[in-house]
Amino acid sequence: MTLAERVARHTTQVVLLTAVAVLSGLVLAQKLALGWLASALIVGVAAAIAMGFAHLSARRAALPGLRRMDDLARKTRAIAEQDDLGQRLVEIGEPEVARISRAVNELLDRVRDERERLAAETLRTRTMAEASPNGVLVVGPRGRIEYLNPAFERLFSLADSPIGLRPLEALEVAAVQRVVDEVVETGAAAELPATSGELEVLLLGVPLGDDGATMVVCSDVTRFRRAEQARTDFVTNVSHELRTPIAAIMGYAETLQGDELPKGSQRLVSAIARNGRRLSELFEDLLALAKIEARRRELPISRRKLKPLVDEALSTAHDRATSKGQTLEVDCPGDVTARINPQALVAIVSNLALNACNYTPEGGHISVTVRQEPDAAVVVVSDDGIGIERTQLARIFERFYRVDSGRARKDGGTGLGLAIVKHLCRASGADVSVESEVGQGSTFTVRFPAT
Ligand code: ADP
Repeated sequence: MTLAERVARHTTQVVLLTAVAVLSGLVLAQKLALGWLASALIVGVAAAIAMGFAHLSARRAALPGLRRMDDLARKTRAIAEQDDLGQRLVEIGEPEVARISRAVNELLDRVRDERERLAAETLRTRTMAEASPNGVLVVGPRGRIEYLNPAFERLFSLADSPIGLRPLEALEVAAVQRVVDEVVETGAAAELPATSGELEVLLLGVPLGDDGATMVVCSDVTRFRRAEQARTDFVTNVSHELRTPIAAIMGYAETLQGDELPKGSQRLVSAIARNGRRLSELFEDLLALAKIEARRRELPISRRKLKPLVDEALSTAHDRATSKGQTLEVDCPGDVTARINPQALVAIVSNLALNACNYTPEGGHISVTVRQEPDAAVVVVSDDGIGIERTQLARIFERFYRVDSGRARKDGGTGLGLAIVKHLCRASGADVSVESEVGQGSTFTVRFPAT
């Protein structure tokens, strides 16, 4: 029987018993022909006796169940305090009590399963971090190191445990603290190159949630940097070495061009001079690109007016446009300013304008417009030339990539112009983009930061 049914039955019994007691008292008082005071006394005594019984029977009906519930609460609290998820409650007693025990047991099953799943996941994550060749460091919300993997210890040659310390106190490389500070300040991922002893490393900081905890992943890029350096050195050396013989060949060819030559030879000598010039331009561009890449750091930039630099950059393009019967319109207000590197700006605008002339048929139109926006100075170089297919747009900034190599070799330059533009933009904080329609023309837009 449920506790509720038992209490209900008891209540009915109490009501009946009290009624019988009161009635019996009344009948007795009648029979004895007592006065009203004595009658009331007898009825009162009868009612009191009935109440006493009621109390005793109530205790018998409800108390065992309530005790078991109290017991249940105590045991549940003990399980929680001991954090012993292996224990279970006994599912006996009144149906209500047994149901509560069963529900608590099911809850304990679920908590245990969830805890086991979390433990397995934590173990997997930890094993992954331990086995990773990249260093992993976790800094807690209060800025103290909470975890680091063996690779991190190795990359930073740590002898003592830095757990509980700030990165700045524990590591000789201050860049780790800088990455952490930047992530906490911005709430976004941050990247920073650094050196640790002989090693060149790249630090990537990412926020772990929004309470200020940060993870720093450190990769060893020494081999990659050395290979990059070797490639740059090789290009620089080869270009340097080849410059002198090419200059000599061109010099001789140009001297010969002035001489009286046998029939047919003039054409050959002109070809030697023309190809010598191409080679020399190629080496100049390769050297320029190698220099920009070798710097790796950003170019120094300062706030400057753009007009004089744009005019300087366009002098060769004006000559080229005139020789091809093209119109080159320039609209650059004198007060436009931006934070730029002057040499980089001249090279960028000059390359884009010369390309516009090269890839626009005779009689075509080229325009260079410069405008000031709140956060940038925008330089737009447009032409109504041959245009570029949409599928090729992403590739034209690669070294030596040409949409139509035959034509580009004839009309264009070395195949390095846009690669130089892209690198110079990256190194000076600018951004270059292109839109084009085959047969309609191309528009290159460069945004130089104003703030
Ligand atoms: P190139 O020396 O061949 O001009 P670039 O790196 O300057 O090398 O340009 C790469 C390729 O992008 C060019 O070969 C050409 O196919 C394409 N290109 C560049 N600018 C334009 C333009 N304004 N119009 C059409 N095609 C262009």
